[in-house]
Amino acid sequence: MANDIKSPGSSVQVLAPATVANLVCGFDVLGMALQQPQDVMTVRLTEKPGIFIQKDDVYNLPVEPEKNVAGASLLALMEEWKAPVGFEVSIDKRIKPGSGLGSSAASSAGAVVAANHLLGSPFTKEDLVRFAMNGEKVASGVKHADNIAPCIYGGITLIRSIFPLDIVQLTAPPMYVTVVHPQIEVRTSDARQILRKEVQLKAAIKQWGNIAGLVTGFLKNDYDLIGRSLEDVIIEPVRSILIPGFDDVKKRSKDAGALGGGISGSGPSIFMLSKEEYVAKGVEDVMIDVYTRLGIEFKTYVTMINYEGAKCIIS
Ligand code: ADP
Repeated sequence: MANDIKSPGSSVQVLAPATVANLVCGFDVLGMALQQPQDVMTVRLTEKPGIFIQKDDVYNLPVEPEKNVAGASLLALMEEWKAPVGFEVSIDKRIKPGSGLGSSAASSAGAVVAANHLLGSPFTKEDLVRFAMNGEKVASGVKHADNIAPCIYGGITLIRSIFPLDIVQLTAPPMYVTVVHPQIEVRTSDARQILRKEVQLKAAIKQWGNIAGLVTGFLKNDYDLIGRSLEDVIIEPVRSILIPGFDDVKKRSKDAGALGGGISGSGPSIFMLSKEEYVAKGVEDVMIDVYTRLGIEFKTYVTMINYEGAKCIIS
């Protein structure tokens, strides 16, 4: 519901969650928001029109508004708001860029959620997704919403179509999510480039059977169906080559009782879904063991689905 625009100098803090795009078989169409990690952003309404990105993150992200995904998303919002307005943006980046955990989406989504709050909430969530997709274009060269939509809506989302936008929120049974982020670099643009442009009909049939199965499993709280459907015969066989330890993590996590999982977004992070917390913690032990043996630094998270999405915490 629309409110009054806040007075210049007002600021808001936003928590913007990490997201897992694709969910194994749903390349570019499914995504899920996580409770951890989350970026913390502070956005201030300024008297002076324009976008001012503070140089205070440890990753040396660009401060030019058109190069920083937060700035690009705000520029798209300002084009529709029309009245002269200014935003000062400070990003406490806790989701490492290039992790495959939707670092760019968190900044894009967080920025427009904060701006919308400061302007008195004139825009819908769908509008905000549309603006934030401009940030994804800056990060990876293409507009996609499989991280942005769950980051803004929370939960698990199906992006049935981007042009025109058609976002469907899905329900799901309680699940734990175990994530490992091996500290190696996989660029989203590289991970996209290595994909084959054509798909065999046989593989496509398997894939759409799995997507339908996964969505149905979520909606019917059917853990077995979810587990059976977490299979990707198109993208994972190509992309997993870029992630050392992937096959080991996947096989041993399933042996430890995980429902299944795969590459988070374009990698290198890997995620696994589990029905019980003790299984999710056992999966974390597997991940720790695999990457310790490989001598690759890593970070792990045991978390759950975030149903709130990016949210303002101080106004
Ligand atoms: P992820 O999958 O974790 O989102 P991407 O590779 O898609 O990672 O996006 C990271 C890229 O976006 C990097 O090249 C980074 O420099 C660029 N970028 C620009 N602004 C931001 C920002 N505010 N937050 C994160 N990444 C940003």
